[in-house]
Amino acid sequence: AAEGILRRQAMRESAARTYARSLPIVPVRARGLTIEGADGRRYLDCLSGAGTLALGHNHPVVLEAVRGVLDSGAPLHVLDLATPVKDAFTTELFATLPGELAADARIQFCGPAGTDAVEAALTLVRTATGRSGLLAFTGAYHGMTAGSLGASGGAPDVRVTRLPYPQDHRCPFGVGGAEGARLGARWTESLLDDPKGGVPTPAGMLVEPVQGEGGVLPAPDAWLRSMREITAARDIPLIADEVQTGVGRTGAFWGVDHAGVVPDVMVMSKAIGGSLPLAVIVYRSALDVWAPGAHAGTFRGNQLAMAAGAATLAYVRENRLAERAAELGARMLTALRGLAAQQPCVADVRGRGLMIGVELADPATGAAASDLAAAVRRECLRRGLIVELGGRHAGVVRLLPPLTITDEQASAVLDRLADAITTASR
Ligand code: PMP
Repeated sequence: AAEGILRRQAMRESAARTYARSLPIVPVRARGLTIEGADGRRYLDCLSGAGTLALGHNHPVVLEAVRGVLDSGAPLHVLDLATPVKDAFTTELFATLPGELAADARIQFCGPAGTDAVEAALTLVRTATGRSGLLAFTGAYHGMTAGSLGASGGAPDVRVTRLPYPQDHRCPFGVGGAEGARLGARWTESLLDDPKGGVPTPAGMLVEPVQGEGGVLPAPDAWLRSMREITAARDIPLIADEVQTGVGRTGAFWGVDHAGVVPDVMVMSKAIGGSLPLAVIVYRSALDVWAPGAHAGTFRGNQLAMAAGAATLAYVRENRLAERAAELGARMLTALRGLAAQQPCVADVRGRGLMIGVELADPATGAAASDLAAAVRRECLRRGLIVELGGRHAGVVRLLPPLTITDEQASAVLDRLADAITTASR
């Protein structure tokens, strides 16, 4: 049966399908870190829906919350109407917000996906500032709908100015570290302040606290703080894209918490829906100047996702899973650095909390080893481990396990990954 399903998928689905190519499995059951295929094989899932499953697959508190809504007879589709489920979700979410935002936040429910919330954030800051440009960063990933607003005859195209995201390997200034981050901040200031050929004051700056798809690049805290200072001094709203970094993933509840930065707008999706589709923006009330209907969307009231999300947020908070992610993530990084010392093809090991990247490169040239990374992913799958790739040249193996992963499971993940790297690099 599984073969038939895979064959029909290959025939019927678009050539754009991605995960299905590298994961030729037919999942039929899942619990926690583990997925079971139709052939009875079990896999440790360190892709976790690209970081969506903070509590892993089918966590009992999530199932209970979803069943609670189903059994209550409450409407499942309610557009953006007020409901007890939404009220509970919003209360739970607001309790997690950083600094001043906690006391002064507005929320806009967006379409189901992270990209919908990004679009909403851009519309919001353009409306609030009356400006159109956007500062974004090299290597950024914010979704796949850029342009949908312009194409609908709505807001004009966003004029994006790219600034260098700090990174040690391939630092655009050739220095890396704190000095590279400092030069990046200086470059940003000089662009904004130069009346001859600089950029006009933009509507906002959009930044990921840790770039995930970009190759697991944690922004240095000092750099993120300087971005906050630079934007605040020029009245430019700072938008943090927390779609992948949120809900404890990086070892703090939100990625910006490490630096103590309070953004003007936070974009949230993935884990906030407890494995069901949900996306919101949360922002300072002073920005809430858009007219009724300025941002719409049919699926802004997913009651099951809100219930699953509220249960997930509460569980992460009550069980201090962000602290757990920080502690276990640090131990996993140490173990992987030990592996890097033995494997010349491992050029770098980095991450924050349970957002971990292992960069593979040719030891002779330093060139990103995308073929090797793909081979490592295949070898991982043969050993019952699902990992993701990322980075500019798809040379970074990424681990995004559920925050509920046990020490024993983490050891099994590391053993299988080490074994896969050893075999693939032979
Ligand atoms: N922002 C970030 C930081 C992401 O990692 C992603 C998805 N990987 C998105 C936005 C887009 O989310 P979605 O795929 O749900 O549109």
